[in-house]
Amino acid sequence: MVLTPPLLELRRVTQTYGVGQRQFTAVKEVNLVLDEGQFVALVGPSGCGKSTVLRIVTGLQPPSQGQVLYRGTVLRGINPHATMVFQTFALFPWLTVLENVEVALKARGMPAALRRARALDLIDRVGLDGFETAFPRELSGGMRQKVGFARAMAVEPELLCLDEPFSALDILSAEALRGELLELWTTGQIPTRAILMVTHNIEEAVSLVDRIIVMDKDPGRIVADLTIDLPHPRRRKEGKFLEIVDWVYATLAGHTQPEHIEFGTAPGEPGRTRALPDAAVNELAGLLEHLAQMPRLQADIYHLAGELHLGTSQLLHLIEAAELLGFTTIAQGDITLTPLGETFAEAGILTRKEIFATRIRRLPVFQWLLALLHAAERRQVEAAVVQIALELEFPAEEAKRQLDIAVRWGRYAELFAYDDKVGILYLEPGETVPLEPEKRAPSATAPS
Ligand code: ADP
Repeated sequence: MVLTPPLLELRRVTQTYGVGQRQFTAVKEVNLVLDEGQFVALVGPSGCGKSTVLRIVTGLQPPSQGQVLYRGTVLRGINPHATMVFQTFALFPWLTVLENVEVALKARGMPAALRRARALDLIDRVGLDGFETAFPRELSGGMRQKVGFARAMAVEPELLCLDEPFSALDILSAEALRGELLELWTTGQIPTRAILMVTHNIEEAVSLVDRIIVMDKDPGRIVADLTIDLPHPRRRKEGKFLEIVDWVYATLAGHTQPEHIEFGTAPGEPGRTRALPDAAVNELAGLLEHLAQMPRLQADIYHLAGELHLGTSQLLHLIEAAELLGFTTIAQGDITLTPLGETFAEAGILTRKEIFATRIRRLPVFQWLLALLHAAERRQVEAAVVQIALELEFPAEEAKRQLDIAVRWGRYAELFAYDDKVGILYLEPGETVPLEPEKRAPSATAPS
């Protein structure tokens, strides 16, 4: 029996940049096998080498050490079977949509009639029918990116490499384009054999791909490889979906403590309920942004109150919250940003909310609150009832404060809403209960 080699294989790929004393290792000994039929996401903090890996795969740069094999043959120079789609696709402003797609085929010497037919077909498939003669300036960002996809697919690449392809688009356009890409891919309408996508957006990765590769930095390397076997279409609020999102975030945060020790238990359950630190989300963001600017992403806690103009107790609450949520670690008087904390600091408003939501959903108090809301008639609960339950664990005044913090965090994360006037907590339509921590065990395998 003859074994077919994988579509793509990276063998101990290392990339160093700079020379002499300034030389540093951006990516170290990366081993990666990509098979036909796979849609794979590469995630990790900025600077972990995701773009470097993409450039190496497409042959835009040779690795300093190691080998890239394409269908079993060592790659030398540009990979003719791979095409890259960037965050913002550079269209030629003086060419129409049709001409912009045809350009790639012209460069390959395809006869005019044939390339016109193929370009028209692709424009139709990405949903731009009727815009063939439009110029890029007449199109929205989402439509321009569709032209980019059509152009990338015109050359029928076996391997489609995507570098943050949806991140420059507004939410609705991004979601629509994701849906269209998935449709083209899952229905086999494009001859693409595999897709490798770099993204910062974990939910995007979990909604699209079959496999997520998590990288960490210093040096850039693969730290986890997760297979996602959920059928499409995937619903972002389903338990299993949230469980995988949580798992990826937890891998990025590098959590090591068992959760029941770290997080405490829900009110009324055996064990101690951990008090939520009284931290305002905007101040927490300020702390993380401050750390993101520090050398080695680290600060001396002793000096931090002065640097951030905060009182000591206020700072301690912030630090405790940052650690509880996996954004920082503390050792020997220093506070250090985790890759997850760095991702949060660099993210926009919506991604921050998503990150925050996935982190607080892990806390027993929020799981308990969400379960309570789900079980309740009309999915609403009086705040006074929650407070009585919290008084099983805390003195009355502290219980009130805990309720207040939970409401502020939960509202920010959009886990639930709160009507101040009547003192009622309620679920927005469509919210579902996440699974309990013990039940989370997606199929994760160690990197090879
Ligand atoms: P990511 O895409 O995960 O943000 P990159 O692959 O862009 O990571 O970069 C990995 C590391 O290599 C970063 O520290 C970055 O500053 C560095 N780097 C990337 N390209 C170059 C280059 N051409 N010269 C020097 N350093 C580089």
